[in-house]
Amino acid sequence: MFSVAIDGPAGAGKSSVARAAAKELGFLYVDTGAMYRTIALYFLRQGADLAAWKEIEAALPGLDLRMELGKEGQKMFLQGEEVTDLIRSPEVSAAVSSVAAIPAVRAFLVDRQRALAKEHNLLMDGRDIGTVVLPQAQLKIFLTAAPEERARRRVRQLEAAGRKVDYRQTLDEILRRDYQDSHREAAPLKPAPDALLLDTTGISFRESIARLVALVRERMAEAE
Ligand code: C5P
Repeated sequence: MFSVAIDGPAGAGKSSVARAAAKELGFLYVDTGAMYRTIALYFLRQGADLAAWKEIEAALPGLDLRMELGKEGQKMFLQGEEVTDLIRSPEVSAAVSSVAAIPAVRAFLVDRQRALAKEHNLLMDGRDIGTVVLPQAQLKIFLTAAPEERARRRVRQLEAAGRKVDYRQTLDEILRRDYQDSHREAAPLKPAPDALLLDTTGISFRESIARLVALVRERMAEAE
């Protein structure tokens, strides 16, 4: 199986670029952020204290998280209910990094993520895919962009979905999440030593996809 690990900070366009590239390559696309978001939603709904790691760990066995990975994208289910759109709410975005810092939560997901890579050619995106989940991936990409550009893109994206958002607030949220994700003890966000950097600042969406697809094809040709 051929695995492509894509890591990078919030709002770098990882999911949209990786999803489109996967389609072009005929690979499966797996968004691991959606899994962390689903767990965050579960604990938010329970009114859990996200700083009480032991209690969160004890509650994990009761969590029924399911994904459908298909042509229409990745659908997420929590306790049988589809939550694909709900996990994109600002409340979940604000809480997810705290939940993702809990080692037991990470362990709960990493096994599932590895199992997928055993079965499929895939592009998997997240924060620790190249460093922890799939260190043996044939290709590792660190996809990033300047924070201001990431904030502008996120505002445009949310506005297109009919949500009114403030640029400054969005930028602050992105910077806060970057900081939390790269300073936590468990699997912090950082490029794997052998990752290739793909900086999409000033590069169009189509060009970013084209570059990623070219990198994958190059690496596949080398592997043959
Ligand atoms: O990719 P997305 O921004 O949806 O991820 C939401 C959050 O989930 C990240 O900010 C990070 O805290 C966490 N995450 C993680 N490891 C991953 C994917 C996401 O810690 N592999």
